[in-house]
Amino acid sequence: MLFSQLGLSAELLRAIADQGYEQATPIQEQAIPLVLKGHDVLAGAQTGTGKTAGFALPMLQRMQANPIKGKRRVVRALVLVPTRELAAQVGDSIRDYSKYISCHTAVIFGGVSINPQISKLRRGVDIVVATPGRLLDHLQRGTIDLGRVETLVLDEADRMLDMGFIHDIRKVMTELPKERQTLLFSATFSKEIKKLSSDLLNAPSTIQV
Ligand code: AMP
Repeated sequence: MLFSQLGLSAELLRAIADQGYEQATPIQEQAIPLVLKGHDVLAGAQTGTGKTAGFALPMLQRMQANPIKGKRRVVRALVLVPTRELAAQVGDSIRDYSKYISCHTAVIFGGVSINPQISKLRRGVDIVVATPGRLLDHLQRGTIDLGRVETLVLDEADRMLDMGFIHDIRKVMTELPKERQTLLFSATFSKEIKKLSSDLLNAPSTIQV
């Protein structure tokens, strides 16, 4: 299916065209309409399927369609990922897709100095892409406020659990509004993933590619 048939805004379609994408991948074709409608989504998808655009494009569209009043940016979307490499990659993709809309993205991961991250957050961001450990560090220091997050994405949730992030994830969850949209992407569905999904997702639509 062509991207132009999926109900995305002109600004997002232009950014997609700049990337050279024409046809949506199967995960994008399934996820985009569901996310646009506001559903929680449980998605079985491997890396390389185009899942990043599958959650990022409709998430950006919902933010664009519902601008927040006031001058100050607040964190409206949180994307949790297992590794710094994936954080950087997802952050780059979101910046590419959001280049024609007013949207600032911070990428937060451990193993590097925290100070530039604190400065970036202080200047105001709409989207945070983060690994769970460093994000928790920011929460404990009071350098990030997740109290107005509208959309939570858990990307490669199975890898986050394999890497032992479950406790960090659970602690981060206590800082998020209960009323929000949650999207969970995982390549595999163990008992632990199913438990996490049933705790975090509300009547999710399930997709599998
Ligand atoms: P992901 O699975 O999100 O890591 O995406 C895998 C790769 O596919 C990335 O390099 C994307 O830039 C690219 N990609 C995503 N969606 C499309 C599309 N609809 N058409 C062509 N390439 C795409």
